[in-house]
Amino acid sequence: MNRRRRVYEGKAKVLYEGPEPGTLVQHFKDDATANNNAKRARFEGKGVLNNRISEFLFIKLGEIGVPTHFIRRLNMREQLIREVEIIPLEVVVRNVVAGSLAKRLGLEEGTALPRSIVEFYYKNDELEDPMVCEEHITAFGWANPQEIDDIMALSLRINDFLTGLFLGIGIRLVDFKIEFGRLYENDMVRTVLADEISPDSCRLWDVQTQDKLDKDRFRRDLGGLVDAYREVARRLGIIFEASEVGATGPVLVKG
Ligand code: C5P
Repeated sequence: MNRRRRVYEGKAKVLYEGPEPGTLVQHFKDDATANNNAKRARFEGKGVLNNRISEFLFIKLGEIGVPTHFIRRLNMREQLIREVEIIPLEVVVRNVVAGSLAKRLGLEEGTALPRSIVEFYYKNDELEDPMVCEEHITAFGWANPQEIDDIMALSLRINDFLTGLFLGIGIRLVDFKIEFGRLYENDMVRTVLADEISPDSCRLWDVQTQDKLDKDRFRRDLGGLVDAYREVARRLGIIFEASEVGATGPVLVKG
């Protein structure tokens, strides 16, 4: 099957050369890693769910005018995307204290933040993605001031939109990580949303029960990761045949 040229292989995704110049195929794997690769596992059906959830969210964001790399979904595990030059930053937006913020500042998980916080991390596995500030970003040329402005504005817009979207289906958007890329079109460069948005890259808590519906189920050994991701998809109105997401778990999820 995969005679295509592999352009990049990450922890949970593979990028292949696309059918036309300037396009790539983004393939979602079932693999999961945590603690910077120290912990690894495979969850049958995770890639299928993330492909669909990310597709859904990127289409919705496109509809409100957020430029993205997404073109269309190709099949259960793959989507066609525009080739972009990835800006080497992980942009984290937080609404509620959790994860590394709780740890770093000794704050209690679950505390609502007085306002949304945007953080930057330098994408570098060897250095374990250190947190950086705008001064580092411009000094080392990872992004220019205009790009940082675009990233900040887009990130807050994405956060506002996704917070409302998830709240509508009984889910609290605690925090999430996004990435941006440079899209070269003729003589123009645009900053566009790239990578994925899925329960792998968001913290999603059930509003009523506070249940975690995201990758913390794996990071914290809570079990039930695929069921949680499937629940997110179900609430978003994405319907799956059992055969699409692995043989285990409920047979057919209806909206
Ligand atoms: O670990 P931390 O609290 O900094 O994570 C913040 C958010 O960013 C979480 O939603 C987490 O899933 C996401 N994240 C990610 N990839 C990373 C680091 C964090 O998707 N490498």
